[in-house]
Amino acid sequence: QFASVELVPGDPILGLTDAYNADTRPGKVNLGVGIYYDEQGRIPLLKCVEQVEKALADAAKPRGYLPIDGLAAYDLETQKLLFGADSELLSAGRVATSQTIGGSGALRVGADFLKKTLPKARIAISNPSWENHRVVFGNAGFEVSDYRYYDPASHGLDFDGMLEDLGKLEAGTVVLLHACCHNPTGVDLTAGQWQQVVELVKQRQLLPFIDIAYQGFDKGTDADATAIRLFGASGIPAFVVASSYSKSFSLYGERVGALSIVAADRDEAKRVQSNIKRTIRANWSSPSTHGAALVAGVLGSTELRAMWESELGEMRDRIHRLRAGLVSKLATLGAPEFAFIQQQAGMFSYSGLSKEQVDRLRDQYAIYAVGTGRICVAALSSSSLDRVAEAVYAVSRG
Ligand code: PMP
Repeated sequence: QFASVELVPGDPILGLTDAYNADTRPGKVNLGVGIYYDEQGRIPLLKCVEQVEKALADAAKPRGYLPIDGLAAYDLETQKLLFGADSELLSAGRVATSQTIGGSGALRVGADFLKKTLPKARIAISNPSWENHRVVFGNAGFEVSDYRYYDPASHGLDFDGMLEDLGKLEAGTVVLLHACCHNPTGVDLTAGQWQQVVELVKQRQLLPFIDIAYQGFDKGTDADATAIRLFGASGIPAFVVASSYSKSFSLYGERVGALSIVAADRDEAKRVQSNIKRTIRANWSSPSTHGAALVAGVLGSTELRAMWESELGEMRDRIHRLRAGLVSKLATLGAPEFAFIQQQAGMFSYSGLSKEQVDRLRDQYAIYAVGTGRICVAALSSSSLDRVAEAVYAVSRG
């Protein structure tokens, strides 16, 4: 039956981790990952999460199914975090939110819903973007194009190119936007630039699909949601948000995400939600309980929420310190041109290293990075920083 099935290549980033694990050289460093590690190289278990987990274990409740669209308290807290607790969109009942299997599940269900509702619509994603964007929307039947985003010369944003490309899209085109901490480049828009994008999107009648997978990893939970807040205040009739707690709660394997669709009014939001539920029903039927209970337990308690904000703040500050440390070490070594790393945001940086330089990092220094030059700053530590800086300096000088 399956004789004609061909072997497809595995995920290149996960393959990198396999190679890293098999490497027996001491002092090896894996900067190819998409995970936040603490100073000891561990995935943090947040204290606020641990507290809720203990309370859940003590209460030892039976495990029924959740509703198709997930835990109501989780959906509500998610809406407040994304749109702001005092959002007019929320009081007007214009947002339909469903718990999903990670941010990935939100992207997929959102893509399926849009394809069904607007079968002719195309989607444009940033160049480059998280590789899965192309795969998910492509598999949902979308024709995927891209708009200019990263400028290799400045290691920053090609904002003019971005505006020009967005300005050429047909009305009704879906535009995928990274709210903050752009994956893979680390290059973000300023609030002023976001405002310009909002105006353009409105004028061209495009449909924004905002992916927010790192809320709180750059400036804070509210500031990192600037794009959502500006679109929310813009008066546009509809937009979509796919969100994830994988990083902000360090709950990767619990698969905690959400899809929020902003509709024109309460009635439209209800109709949209009924369709989202049908799509979810056809995919995973209903989401899992544990991760959602953890997030809702933290966000629903004033005390635990404050604890979370502080723990998230520690992760964010550590990333900023690592960026500053790497830049300063490289400058001391004689490579001040890497200063842009401090301007980039979130876990990732497009380091500007070529594929050949990345290969040399691996072969000569046991330092693993993605072939595109993407490094995960959050996988550095104060003990590996000098070694990494020295190796980057060496390969950048040929
Ligand atoms: N969007 C972006 C930009 C991401 O980087 C990721 C995770 N790497 C996701 C979505 C998916 O998040 P999750 O792991 O929660 O499915």
